[in-house]
Amino acid sequence: MLQIYNTLTRKKESFTPMDGNHVRMYVCGMTVYDFCHIGHARTVTAFDVVARYLRARGYHLTYVRNITDVDDKIIHRALENGESIDALTDRMIVAMREDFHRLGNIDPDEEPRATAYIDGMITMIETLIAKGYAYAPGNGDVYYRVRKFDGYGKLSGKVLDELEAGARVEVDEQKEYPPDFVLWKSVKPEEPSWESPWGDGRPGWHIECSVMGKCCLGETFDIHGGGSDLTFPHHENEIAQSEAANGVLFVNTWMHSGAIRVDNVKMSKSLGNFFTIREVLELYNHEVVRYFLISSHYRSPMSYSENSLKEAGVRLKRLYTALNDLDLEGVAVPEGHLFEQRFFTVMDDDFNTPEALAVLFELVRELNRIRSDDVAKACSLAVLLRKLGGVLGILQEDPSTFLKSGSDVDEEWIRTMIDQRELAKRDRNFSEADRIRDELASQGVILEDSRKGTTWHIQR
Ligand SMILES: [Zn+2]
Repeated sequence: MLQIYNTLTRKKESFTPMDGNHVRMYVCGMTVYDFCHIGHARTVTAFDVVARYLRARGYHLTYVRNITDVDDKIIHRALENGESIDALTDRMIVAMREDFHRLGNIDPDEEPRATAYIDGMITMIETLIAKGYAYAPGNGDVYYRVRKFDGYGKLSGKVLDELEAGARVEVDEQKEYPPDFVLWKSVKPEEPSWESPWGDGRPGWHIECSVMGKCCLGETFDIHGGGSDLTFPHHENEIAQSEAANGVLFVNTWMHSGAIRVDNVKMSKSLGNFFTIREVLELYNHEVVRYFLISSHYRSPMSYSENSLKEAGVRLKRLYTALNDLDLEGVAVPEGHLFEQRFFTVMDDDFNTPEALAVLFELVRELNRIRSDDVAKACSLAVLLRKLGGVLGILQEDPSTFLKSGSDVDEEWIRTMIDQRELAKRDRNFSEADRIRDELASQGVILEDSRKGTTWHIQR
């Protein structure tokens, strides 16, 4: 039975979809004003593994991840760049998809853009006003009345008195109560705006996910995910909006992925330890980056460092080395194998990817133990390794290509050296053969001799 940690109830729960075999999942996506960074990569990859695993387990999944394409940061950046908002957001959406694909992430089934749902947002705000959960003080803004919603704080554990003490109210705001939040903002010069019953303006951030969740997945759905930094205020406010407007529970299971730090320091532009996905992918193979991202449990905080990426490289190389030099063409995946059962058991425990990787290493130990004695069995295990790796989104490259990647040495030179070593061995000049092997090793090129001949890979 699949167990998922639910932020709302603060415990692991047995997961049962509302609608038979169909799982409906919504994940808060990107605000598209800049290139995505390694923190975004972690959130998106964590939920990509969730999506892959739910499907591997036989569920029919509808996965929705929104795009926030109207927001203060977007407006400011477009002005700064001297480009239109559409030009900026279109450019950043293309870059975002490219980065996520390179990390091996599968596209969600739907990627709704906020600006396409403005009418639905206005309708939901009207409902909230009619029910007394929102008010329009007459300055063109509309606010949510948090004291009216009994469950306010149930997701994040925040208490209204404390929020009141810490709240800052801007001069132009006309809130009844400081923690109230904005649903609709009146237009400011040079900002995009839409017509509404309260005058021209634009939506606050939180309302978009309540509306897109409902439009794409219904009033109540199974899983809502996002980075842990979204728990408050964003997700708390989504619950307040949706449950007040629809009168039913919004989401059964709330999932939050942990933050990423750089060398154990919070990542920030001002500290200069800020890495975009494309910067990281210039330094490391995309599957190495993915391996690093899934090597910690999705809820734990993790630290990005040169060492942790190097370690990920070494470990992934071990998995690929086990696949190398085996002819897997036409080899069937063994059914119901013990390693597969164990893999599913640990993944059933709240998507425990570090334990799942540990199962893959046990499988590799067994594969390596038998590979010279029982090639057929080794191939069968290799096919299983590749299949289970695929559930995590790794081991999908050609092994020999992967093992050579990152090499800046001249392949032709390596080939020539290997040929010379073969000639030396044939002449029984073993000291010369060893000298060539050592020279290659000094360049980081490791040779492996097998019955099929000599292969090489780059030491990482
Ligand atoms: Zn959201």
